[in-house]
Amino acid sequence: MTPERPTGQAAMCPGASHRLVFLGTGAGCGVPAFFCGCPACEEARLDPRARRGCCGVILEGGKRLLIDTPPDLRHQLVREGVPSIDRLLFTHAHYDHVGGLGELEYLVRLVHKAPLPTAASAEALAGIKAEFGYLEECLALEELSPFSAFEYDGLRYTALPVSHAPGTFGYLIESPQTSLFYASDTGRLEPACAERVRGVDILVMDATFWKRNWSPTAHHSVQEAIEEGFELDAGCIYLTHLAMHYDEPITLAALEEYLVQFGGRVKVAVDGLGLPL
Ligand SMILES: [Zn+2]
Ligand SMILES: [Zn+2]
Ligand SMILES: [Zn+2]
Repeated sequence: MTPERPTGQAAMCPGASHRLVFLGTGAGCGVPAFFCGCPACEEARLDPRARRGCCGVILEGGKRLLIDTPPDLRHQLVREGVPSIDRLLFTHAHYDHVGGLGELEYLVRLVHKAPLPTAASAEALAGIKAEFGYLEECLALEELSPFSAFEYDGLRYTALPVSHAPGTFGYLIESPQTSLFYASDTGRLEPACAERVRGVDILVMDATFWKRNWSPTAHHSVQEAIEEGFELDAGCIYLTHLAMHYDEPITLAALEEYLVQFGGRVKVAVDGLGLPL
């Protein structure tokens, strides 16, 4: 398959006003998993670039919007030098995406002194309330319905239902220059979602598995993410939520080598990577 559209940085307008920063790009157990000695985990022990925390991203313009609060959140925010969070958005309420929510308690109590605006689906809000009852006065919860959109800090966010736990959203994020779809956890997109995503400049896609997909209704393999990204005519595809080590481990070096065949149109997200929007 040959790339037909401009790729990577070239696809992004030089007048970018915002930045998406990957706080984490790993599946639930992280890379290295503390219990694993596979080549991918051993590579990550030696090379910081191959280390992956759980998935979250921050959108920075004049303000900072955080999507998901992974368990490693405090370390991720310190690493990226993020001084504050102004708004919170959730994809869903699985542990690897909400486990670090408690890390924001002191930002709210000591700095903002006002509840943090926090939006998610009804199902994700129910999960957050059940797990984090002690944060009730710290969060101003706002329910998002499927396909609803809002504007924040010069970006338009549309909540698109994806194929994962009930109430999981991917977010279509549009700046005046660039469109990006962030879907860290999803199986193959349903047609109504796929039609909204078609032709997006940047697709950030679940690529949990290498080769065999253990959970095809909830996740993608690397190969499926690439195939679907091309079907959707995405300008470039960033693979995220990578486990690197299920049936067969794949090192970052080997994965980047594998992606050379796509001429730069498919890239591996790494923790700390920033994309202009
Ligand atoms: Zn491993
Ligand atoms: Zn999940
Ligand atoms: Zn996940």
